[in-house]
Amino acid sequence: PWAHFKMAPPDPIIGLNEAYNSDDFPDKVNVGVGAYRCDQGMPFVLPVVMEAEKAIIAEEMDHEYSGIAGCPDFVNLALKFVYGDDCAALQEGRIAGVQTLSGTGGLRVFGETLATFGHKHIYVPDPTWGNHIPIFKNAGLEVRKYRYYDNDSCSLDFSNLIDDMRAMPEGSCILLHACAHNPTGMDPTVDQWKEISNVAMEKNLLPFFDSAYQGFASGDARKDAAAVRMFVEDGHNIAVVQSFSKNFGLYGQRIGALSVVAADPEEAKRVLSQLKVHIRPSYSNPPRHGARIVTKILSDPEKTNDFVHQCMGMAKRIDGMRYELRQALEDLGSGRSWDHVTSQIGMFAYSGLTKDQVVALREKHHIYCTLDGRISMAGVTSNNVEYIARAIHDVTGG
Ligand code: PMP
Repeated sequence: PWAHFKMAPPDPIIGLNEAYNSDDFPDKVNVGVGAYRCDQGMPFVLPVVMEAEKAIIAEEMDHEYSGIAGCPDFVNLALKFVYGDDCAALQEGRIAGVQTLSGTGGLRVFGETLATFGHKHIYVPDPTWGNHIPIFKNAGLEVRKYRYYDNDSCSLDFSNLIDDMRAMPEGSCILLHACAHNPTGMDPTVDQWKEISNVAMEKNLLPFFDSAYQGFASGDARKDAAAVRMFVEDGHNIAVVQSFSKNFGLYGQRIGALSVVAADPEEAKRVLSQLKVHIRPSYSNPPRHGARIVTKILSDPEKTNDFVHQCMGMAKRIDGMRYELRQALEDLGSGRSWDHVTSQIGMFAYSGLTKDQVVALREKHHIYCTLDGRISMAGVTSNNVEYIARAIHDVTGG
């Protein structure tokens, strides 16, 4: 029955790992997938996560199913983490929240929910994280783009962003990256967020925040949630997807949350019931381990403090590598400006390399990044930064 199945192309991001793994060049570099590496190039488990795991094992917990909406303690803590303890909507009990299969799972559940309730399309920034497009398509939505980034000036294309928002049909859902926009590393300023919020209000748009890097953008989790909090204060009934993959380093544990701000507690209950209707036939209920880890940490002020410092440590290492990469390119006498490498934030450098240059980087220098020229700064280390700079210098023609 499978004879007519054609070979599907490898995933544009995850497929890079496969290509990297089968390359036997000793100095090969993987700067494709956005997964943090320590300066020795190894995966990093936050010490506070290790402690939490030990405590969980010592408690000899059972492995019963969680509820459809996941672990309530985790959900409450996740919501406080993004909305803030003092968020009025949270205190009033009008935010519906569920645990999700990390950010990806939350995006899909909300996409499906939107489609069920009459949304035909969703707007995403151009460019955006590659997986946003198939996630929302598979959820049954037409994916439309709004202008976000100006390639020539390597900066936010703000006036076109606003023009595109004004042209959106009333009631449209607009996906916004809460911080550390992937792939461009370019976020709106506080004033620009305010204007986005105002236009969204005028046009009655539904802002949907994807928060995959809280703590990674500025090193300060509170600051990285500023846009989300501003929109709630401005009176938007937003939706938010949170991922704990990057900030807690829990990639493979698939831990995240989806929340929806409603008009009142009764509406929040109805929304929650509909989210559960989508989850139950999809994966029934989410896994427990990641939720337990995050709960252990965020329910304890001392552990939370340790987390903040360790997350900041990752953000700082990445930032240091931005400066080293830029400096190395300048020292090589590159004729181009590499200022954007240090002005961008978060996990990625949106390098401006063309597709051909990316292919040359891969074929000639065994350096793997996505075809849009996005380089995961989390994979750049003291050992490989010079090598990467030389290779970039070579493929960009010096
Ligand atoms: N949104 C954005 C913008 C991302 O960059 C990522 C991870 N690359 C995700 C969502 C989802 O990741 P995960 O499913 O691991 O939480």
